[in-house]
Amino acid sequence: MTDAEVSVEPAEYADPAEPAQLLPRLRGSFDRGVTRPLAWRRRELESLRRLLRDHGSELEDALASDLGKSRVESQLTEIGFVVRDIDHTLSHLRRWTSPRRVPIPIVLAPAFGRIVREPLGVVLVMAPWNYPVQLLLAPLVGALAAGNAVVLKPSELAPAVAATLARLIPLYLDTRAVAIVQGGVPETTELLEERFDHIFYTGSGAVGRIVMAAAAKHLTPVTLELGGKSPAWVDGTIDVTAVATRLAWAKFINAGQTCVAPDYVLTTPEAAPALERALADAVGTLYGPDPRNNPDYGRIINDKQFSRLNALLGDGRVVTGGVTDSHTRYIAPTVLADVSPDSAVMTEEIFGPILPIITVPSLDAAIAFITARDKPLALYAFTASSRTKRKLLAETSSGGVSFGTPLLQLSAPALPFGGVGASGTGAYHGEYSVRTFSHEKSVLDKPMFLDTLRVIRPPFSTLTRRL
Ligand code: NAD
Repeated sequence: MTDAEVSVEPAEYADPAEPAQLLPRLRGSFDRGVTRPLAWRRRELESLRRLLRDHGSELEDALASDLGKSRVESQLTEIGFVVRDIDHTLSHLRRWTSPRRVPIPIVLAPAFGRIVREPLGVVLVMAPWNYPVQLLLAPLVGALAAGNAVVLKPSELAPAVAATLARLIPLYLDTRAVAIVQGGVPETTELLEERFDHIFYTGSGAVGRIVMAAAAKHLTPVTLELGGKSPAWVDGTIDVTAVATRLAWAKFINAGQTCVAPDYVLTTPEAAPALERALADAVGTLYGPDPRNNPDYGRIINDKQFSRLNALLGDGRVVTGGVTDSHTRYIAPTVLADVSPDSAVMTEEIFGPILPIITVPSLDAAIAFITARDKPLALYAFTASSRTKRKLLAETSSGGVSFGTPLLQLSAPALPFGGVGASGTGAYHGEYSVRTFSHEKSVLDKPMFLDTLRVIRPPFSTLTRRL
């Protein structure tokens, strides 16, 4: 169906229906073609952008309440991130959703082939608590751009953000096709019993398995954006101060609760002492002598995570940090050295402000260390050597790779963002989001007037004579 074929009805901004009626209501809207016209998709994306602009400071307050995030960080990594994603999507929407002509083998000629991206239907987006605005709304941008009806499930562990978005979304987006469901495990379990046309889940691998099992009952495809231990290789061939500054920023932003944060550093015994000193200096430069009093430094989401992280501090030697305060769930930006590869801090995803340094004799040993473990979401390397870069690319597997700066690979919308193996399946961002939330339908169109297919139909006697 094209824009011209479907008239755009005015959106209803009424209260959402009861949860039991939710799926049939959204499916009914999808089946009536409400979400298909480009004009509807565009209008929803513009409304979402307006929501983020009109209520930016409310969302900043909610992020400060849930995670102690500073306003600047909230704009950079959450609210502004989604606004930029919407801008980029709107400027490419027509091209990304237009049918694409493809070449057809000469034996089929005359014929035309094209790929038509069609929306999947009603999709579920489940988000975690660590970037509760970005990780709920960036997938929503892709789902709307592709023309789907959407159920949003924010994380109950970021309650202020969940409540704020649950209030605002129905005021800005078309409630015939977009709904937000709040709740914890029981509500999510109930939701997962429904048949969706796609489930987009971001969070831990443990819950990812639950989501995948629930989806399998309906043969629903899934995108799983998971986590893991993303290593950073530092070989001492580039300025250690610059390396440490970028590593410390990437590790300690959002108090280390970032899925693509460098989980641990791999380096050589020769390069380690200078790197330790530089990392301690970098923490001081970024957060001052007492990060506890620095408004730019965040807090741990809840007591459970705080206790888990506190227990990880028992391993190795503290290079900097190590201070904690359970009342405010503060854990100082911490660098650990002399850590055993078998210790807890090296066997589970850290997901907090603790950076262990592991020494290995060589690049080959570093590669062996990485490949002996689950495939990470990201691999980082700080090296001046092109040979080292090529070797790392060829001999390791990870969701993505970034040389010279961690985290920023996910700010380039032309790069797909996702994991591989234990770090996830599927990808999104930019055009990859539209792909994820679309079915690419193959269309072959062969005219009737030239019967070039006679040779493939019985009787084959003429053909066998020629063979
Ligand atoms: P979480 O506990 O908030 O869970 C994520 C979602 O799953 C929530 O919506 C929650 O309600 C739901 N959920 C939780 N338990 C459930 C259950 N038993 N049954 C059904 N649904 C359930 O978040 P989390 O899992 O603690 O998130 C942290 C993890 O997410 C880390 O491993 C991190 O690396 C990963 N992560 C990945 C990305 C990425 O883009 N790849 C981004 C952020 C976080």
